[in-house]
Amino acid sequence: MMHNDINDLSPEDEQHLRQLEIKISELFSLLEKSELRISQLQDENLQLKAQIRKLEQQSKPIQYKSPQVEPRKVSREPIPTITPVDTSLRQNKRKCPNCGAMGFAIKEVDDRTQVISYTPRRIYKKKRVCTKCRFEF
Ligand SMILES: [Zn+2]
Repeated sequence: MMHNDINDLSPEDEQHLRQLEIKISELFSLLEKSELRISQLQDENLQLKAQIRKLEQQSKPIQYKSPQVEPRKVSREPIPTITPVDTSLRQNKRKCPNCGAMGFAIKEVDDRTQVISYTPRRIYKKKRVCTKCRFEF
């Protein structure tokens, strides 16, 4: 026979039930505290959102200006070009400082004691030799 009547409960069950009721009331008070905390946090959240809106409105004019102030130069980066060393040397006027011979009398040769680059191929520093007096410079 099952009865839901509280009077049918044994003393042990009654004690157990009281403990459960205490527990429930504890939980309810905890829940109340939590709800209070939630409402506090919701208020805080609304205040923060209002602050964010204010800040966003303040920062908008700056955001519109910034692209003009700081133009992006990423695409304009110069591509490094390797200028051949001998081209620039050939453009210089050739004149022997020893005998004054000019033009074709001066030959450009590799100075094998001075390597400028090892890759992609060996590039030696150029030196000039006067074919008339054998003066090297
Ligand atoms: Zn010379």
